[in-house]
Amino acid sequence: MSKLKLAFYWAASCGGCDVAVLDLNEKILDVAAVADILLWPIAMDFKYTDVEAIEDKGIDICFYNGAIRFSEHEHLAALLRAKSKVMVAFGSCAWLGGIPGLANVAGRQSIFQLVYKDTPSTDNKEGVFPQVRWPIPAGELTLPQFYDTVKTLPQIIPVEYYLPGCPPAVHQIEAVIAAIVEGRLPPPPAVIGASDKTVCDECKRLKEEKKVRSFVRPHLVVPDPERCLLEQGIVCCGPATRGGCGTRCLNANLPCRGCYGPPPGAVDQGSKLLSAVASIIDSNDPEEIAKIVDQIEDPLGTFYRFGLPSSTLRRARV
Ligand code: SF4
Ligand code: SF4
Repeated sequence: MSKLKLAFYWAASCGGCDVAVLDLNEKILDVAAVADILLWPIAMDFKYTDVEAIEDKGIDICFYNGAIRFSEHEHLAALLRAKSKVMVAFGSCAWLGGIPGLANVAGRQSIFQLVYKDTPSTDNKEGVFPQVRWPIPAGELTLPQFYDTVKTLPQIIPVEYYLPGCPPAVHQIEAVIAAIVEGRLPPPPAVIGASDKTVCDECKRLKEEKKVRSFVRPHLVVPDPERCLLEQGIVCCGPATRGGCGTRCLNANLPCRGCYGPPPGAVDQGSKLLSAVASIIDSNDPEEIAKIVDQIEDPLGTFYRFGLPSSTLRRARV
């Protein structure tokens, strides 16, 4: 049997998705036994001209991690789409926009102003900002364009599969690779490497009556490791998050942050979580409710941490 042809690419991401693949450790040798890797910028030296030289549909499966922030990311997404039979949005940034997508609360101009001018450590009296083209004696320097809006991979190209997680859990990457090798992937489009339950469904903590009169940030308390965190006043995204990670944050006595995205049937992860949180506030007095809700720091980052660009709050034009 001929070897599978795989590609890995990273766009606007932290690198954690690639590290999760490296965390396969010696099992990466099992992958190498059945697959040739045609592109993996974090691990091997490939040039874009190498990708351009691949025949169309010459890659069996491309794992694309990271959101679309720069024109370079969009160009590679389109190029890899043409070269790949199957595209996998690997990780929350590619599928939903992820942490880079929270930048959509601002635009390019205000981001440049802050980063290149206003930060206390920046000395830029002339207000020089990055340019896409810049003439030099030897010709012209170019940079990718920084887009005004962070986009998700499925907003740019058709994608067959979505593999959630920030990053995806290693045991799920292993399971997906085994499914690929054994020809067991479900019909596309589909979420793979996750379960059809919520994190709450898979959480082993003691669940009693959910009624809270105050919220607290997780680093300010040592929570009871046996009891539901939400019942202890710590915002936990478990009720609104797809399971399959092995409840890894709960195992570390930390709340679920929502990285596996919305569970099946949920239109919007943030509003589902809002509804869950609203239902446990133990008061009918509007003023008291407002005070309790005010204790939730950074509501947008809490309820839409991993999916702002794909949510109902996304920009109308992407
Ligand atoms: S809200 Fe969080 S801590 Fe509570 S049961 Fe769900 S996942 Fe577990
Ligand atoms: S518990 Fe939640 S935030 Fe933590 S890995 Fe699982 S889905 Fe992601």
